[in-house]
Amino acid sequence: MLGLMQNQPLLISSLLTFAERHHGDGEIVSRRVEGDIHRTTYRQLAGRARQLASALDAQGLAMGERVASIAWNGYRHMEMYFGVSGSGRVLHTINPRLHPEQIAWVVNHAEDRVLCFDMTFLPIVQAIHSHCPTVQKWVMLCDADKLPADSGIPNLVSYEAWIGAMRTDYAWPQFDENTASSICYTSGTTGNPKGVLYSHRSSVLHAYAAALPDVMCLSSRDAVLPVVPMFHVNAWGIPYSAALTGCKLVFPGPALDGKSVYELIEAEGVTFAAGVPTVWQMLLTHVRSQGQKFSSLTRTVIGGAACPPAMIAAFEDEFGVHVLHAWGMTETSPLGTLCTPKKKQLAWPLEQQRALQQKQGRAICGVDMKIVGGDGQELPWDGKTYGDLLVRGPWILERYFKGDSPLVEDASGLGWFPTGDVATIDADGFMHITDRSKDVIKSGGEWISSIDVENIAMGHPAVAMAACIGMPHPKWDERPIVAIALKPGASATREDILAFYEGKTAKWQIPDDVVFVDAIPLGATGKMLKTRLREQLAGYKLPGL
Ligand code: AMP
Repeated sequence: MLGLMQNQPLLISSLLTFAERHHGDGEIVSRRVEGDIHRTTYRQLAGRARQLASALDAQGLAMGERVASIAWNGYRHMEMYFGVSGSGRVLHTINPRLHPEQIAWVVNHAEDRVLCFDMTFLPIVQAIHSHCPTVQKWVMLCDADKLPADSGIPNLVSYEAWIGAMRTDYAWPQFDENTASSICYTSGTTGNPKGVLYSHRSSVLHAYAAALPDVMCLSSRDAVLPVVPMFHVNAWGIPYSAALTGCKLVFPGPALDGKSVYELIEAEGVTFAAGVPTVWQMLLTHVRSQGQKFSSLTRTVIGGAACPPAMIAAFEDEFGVHVLHAWGMTETSPLGTLCTPKKKQLAWPLEQQRALQQKQGRAICGVDMKIVGGDGQELPWDGKTYGDLLVRGPWILERYFKGDSPLVEDASGLGWFPTGDVATIDADGFMHITDRSKDVIKSGGEWISSIDVENIAMGHPAVAMAACIGMPHPKWDERPIVAIALKPGASATREDILAFYEGKTAKWQIPDDVVFVDAIPLGATGKMLKTRLREQLAGYKLPGL
């Protein structure tokens, strides 16, 4: 027997319709590529998203065809989130930090029909346009008078001229909630990038879950700054959750340095910000150097890479900003777990609470997770036993676009997504990532967590960034070494760093050596590229070998 409730599909357009109707004057503030601060509202956003949808109709784009963006976080990008997906097309957000050849590869793989880009990215488009035969229309996200006369790109139009003449009374179509809404490619550090194709249903469910009190706790009283890029996993779903809650949105545009981010937080009364540790490092360095404080920021979600304990302590103890450590992947939309304490844990001593915050947290309802051993058998939730982390749920990938399904089946035939992360889960359900499976260091049959080794080094006042990798050892199989990039003007010796480990970890987990580097290589999403670091250290030998 079926239930007798209205069968209304979960569509992205419904989030915008809600925001327009109930939070029409809700603010959306953007620092633009043009350099100024732009202000708009959900009402205006909705009108312009409808104009964009009309422009796509006029262009003759069918349902399901792909429209690409190469853009910073800003209101025009937000319009694309709703105008493209809302009208049944698929938004392909492209990471501009990929190599142009990779960008052309993903454009061709996705068969993008329209590509809209910020002015900053004109050189990328100039480099790729002749290699992208599927693209019928190139659109620069700017006013008509900013369009370069001699770009070399055929029929280049400005976004404002393109959508400006279109109707605002477009009616959002209704369709199956399982229809594709957006696609994001993995960064492709090993092999070609893989396309993760989100649906309306997965995006809307994720938006609801993300806003929950034990997740990001978003409300119409918040002013939210997504520093996480809209070109990577839909900025952790914040654009959708923002429309769902009607919170004020503050977009940083291209200015991600500490000073610019701080100024925006203060000027716009930001209460909640989201970003990866590398961006927050820049922000902390800036506010410390200026002796500044945050007057409105109360909490920040940090994820995408392990948040160093020193960063958690700095935000919490120096600045009174609550840190929510989060874990996720492109394949998980991305939110999988978030570290919010349970009631009993609020009574724990401070040190124990800080230790808890280093964990990546508890599964969000909708995400089921487990750890398994090499034989696929589930391992206990004791906070000690390591295993491969598997997840499943309605916003977790089933199959890559034009690719295979990576799912592994359990005994009852349920498919689980193997994350490639190694983790423990404690009795309270708090998951702790110890490594990517390919970064695990095995020394004398015991595992050493490269993240633990890095976290300790990151607590040293002279260290800007630390990366731990295993090096071959004839007796122990592998021993860890730590590559260190020092803060500008700071100094520390190999001995200083090694001495810093004393008493903070077991002796056999202390790295065998310290290698100083100018910078730790970062990938397109700001994460450490250990493959590149290993290449850089080719020929390196452990001391005494
Ligand atoms: P991506 O799909 O590029 O966003 O990368 C996902 C990967 O980033 C995960 O599989 C983890 O290895 C890593 N990651 C994400 N969040 C965290 C976190 N809080 N701590 C440690 N690693 C993380």
